[in-house]
Amino acid sequence: MARVYNFSAGPAALPEEVLRQAQGEMLDWHGSGMSVMEMSHRGKEFMSIATEAEVDLRELMGIPDNYKVLFLQGGASSQFAMIPMNLIGRTGEADYLRTGSWSKKAIAEARRFGEITVSVDSEQDGKFTSAPSADGFSVSAEAAYVHYTPNETIEGVEFPYIPDTGEVPLVADMSSTILSRPLDVSRYGLIYAGAQKNIGPAGLTIVIVRDDLIGGPLDGTPAMFNYATHADAGSMYNTPPTYGWYLAGMVFKWLKAKGGLAGMSEINQRKAAKLYDAIDASSFYANPVATACRSWMNVPFTLADASLDAEFLRQAGEAGLKTLKGHRSVGGMRASIYNAMPESGVDALVEFMIEFERKHG
Ligand code: PMP
Repeated sequence: MARVYNFSAGPAALPEEVLRQAQGEMLDWHGSGMSVMEMSHRGKEFMSIATEAEVDLRELMGIPDNYKVLFLQGGASSQFAMIPMNLIGRTGEADYLRTGSWSKKAIAEARRFGEITVSVDSEQDGKFTSAPSADGFSVSAEAAYVHYTPNETIEGVEFPYIPDTGEVPLVADMSSTILSRPLDVSRYGLIYAGAQKNIGPAGLTIVIVRDDLIGGPLDGTPAMFNYATHADAGSMYNTPPTYGWYLAGMVFKWLKAKGGLAGMSEINQRKAAKLYDAIDASSFYANPVATACRSWMNVPFTLADASLDAEFLRQAGEAGLKTLKGHRSVGGMRASIYNAMPESGVDALVEFMIEFERKHG
């Protein structure tokens, strides 16, 4: 068996140690005689797995006690609707920062539920290549919350700061950046993320929400879309994504063993710097993103001659460097280098890029 370096934006590579542990426990979890997939979510075995995962996540992220952690389904895309359904009721209005493809989707969905102000739009000539400056937007007096996307997965654009929204709750789509570095959770009203990048397998969605924001849903909000339903039931109102929850728990333990988020942050910063340095040192490769806003997690790059794209991908694939094709809206390549991508994977990619340029540049 040969494992490749998988640069997919999501579902993305998982730590090999975690996959091996899951393999070892597949048929018989800790002497229970069954797979975690086969357990009742209300049994004591699964309850212990679920509780431990939440305790570990709280410890890793330093989540204050007045925040609930919800283990849900529906992906980050369901949160695009659940957030306004649960949070917009106070005033009927919310502010959104429009900085790339995913915030655009969040805005389109939120518009079904109230009055949305796009307080800043960083699109220029049809492209998103930077985040707004910290003083580049204001907060509407009537905003029930401000929503932003700290890391735009498709464009590779990241906010280098946490927006200051004063008393107005800040809501963040952290799908592609959660757990990549330490974070002051108390700056946020709500954080959400689909699991399939830095947490675990697709099918699990994590929501971290300050408890005073729960309990005021719009009239007609279905029980499954009401945060209170899940907060009151410990995310066990219905059957949660049990296997994803279990794998996420193993990823949290893996992160703790790596030195927690501070340790991860050092590695991630180094990985990203190596790749951007290689791109900047060459006139054959280019990254269009403003230097201060370059993502640590998703690195898009183009080749000077786009007719070489297919050949680049073919040779990269042969070298065991997979899923490097860029998103169709941006073109070129994209290397997603989440927590589970080892530094050796970035080294191998940089080496391959240098060699490809030597042959074809
Ligand atoms: N937001 C961001 C920032 C994303 O990267 C993605 C998925 N790539 C989504 C939302 C959508 O997530 P899901 O597929 O879990 O609905």
